[in-house]
Amino acid sequence: EALDKLIDLKGSIRVFCRVQPSISTSNIKIKSPVTVEQENIAVRAVGIKKDFSVDRVFDQESTQDDVFHEVRPILRSALDGHNVCILAFGQTGTGKTYTMEGTSDNLGLVPRAIQELFSHAAQDTSSTYSFSISMLEVYMGSLRDLLAPRQQPLFRSIEGNTTCNLSILATTSGSVQVEGLTDVTVPDLKKANQWYSRERRSRSTSWTNVNNVSSRSHCLTRITIRRCGGVTGQVSKLWLVDLGGSERLLKTGASGLIMDEGKAINLSLSALGDVIAALRRKRSHVPYRNSKLTQILSDSLGDGSKVVMVVHISPSKDDVGETICSLGFAKRAR
Ligand code: ADP
Ligand code: MG
Repeated sequence: EALDKLIDLKGSIRVFCRVQPSISTSNIKIKSPVTVEQENIAVRAVGIKKDFSVDRVFDQESTQDDVFHEVRPILRSALDGHNVCILAFGQTGTGKTYTMEGTSDNLGLVPRAIQELFSHAAQDTSSTYSFSISMLEVYMGSLRDLLAPRQQPLFRSIEGNTTCNLSILATTSGSVQVEGLTDVTVPDLKKANQWYSRERRSRSTSWTNVNNVSSRSHCLTRITIRRCGGVTGQVSKLWLVDLGGSERLLKTGASGLIMDEGKAINLSLSALGDVIAALRRKRSHVPYRNSKLTQILSDSLGDGSKVVMVVHISPSKDDVGETICSLGFAKRAR
């Protein structure tokens, strides 16, 4: 509860930064342009001297446990009825999927969050909870249900076929629904993990492998929490979002489909940045409608919601331009 107060005090949007461990191929240690100290990140290179501050830095030595520890109080908010959004942002290859999914030896935020929800539910004797899980991918402005039964080869979507497209409905109560999205009730931790890993398996063997679409799509996991205690019932949503790569297009010399995919990602990420900046500055108009991503998340980013953005950066000299862009995004959100 003290932690909850602390979060409220700092506002409902928190920005973390995680620095990817350098994967050095040689013995020569090249000095990284990125140095971190507490909440500050310094970027130094020829002609570049920039400083950024965030709510919390996870340096190269940070563990999955360190990140989870920081996110845990926010999961409690989700159990208490708040909508919560945890977003992984950054250039491709900087560890977004590592933070969210992790590996079998080093579980990431999603499997840890699922575990936490069930263990809390087991301990809380005054309420009963039920959980359901949905997963979807936003790719070039269309939505794909990752838990739907499969009838068609998925690569059709890559060619622009939108048979798997879903639409977004705003209800009169202000909440948002993705029409027709599969929502699987998970009675226990084992079932929840089975669904989660089923999705991961199918995703990695479908279009993700073709042309590495995963870096140019957003992957959203939604856990719906239904809590009954006494006379009242409460529904809240926990979103765990592995965003598409934030890298700019010019560097990669992209063309054709890759270019279009990159544009779609850039557009939706800047729409997300605009929404968060407007919320942060308490603007009366929040431009949710500018992308599918922000439409879907619109009831979980604003009033009464808790948002955590984990901005991932590379320690490498070659990525310094992207690093500054990503930290600029973080700065706007604060
Ligand atoms: P992204 O999803 O941002 O494209 P990944 O999560 O796929 O990046 O990370 C790229 C590679 O680096 C993967 O092999 C991943 O396991 C590894 N990696 C990223 N961050 C870490 C970390 N903090 N510790 C260990 N390995 C990491
Ligand atoms: Mg990834």
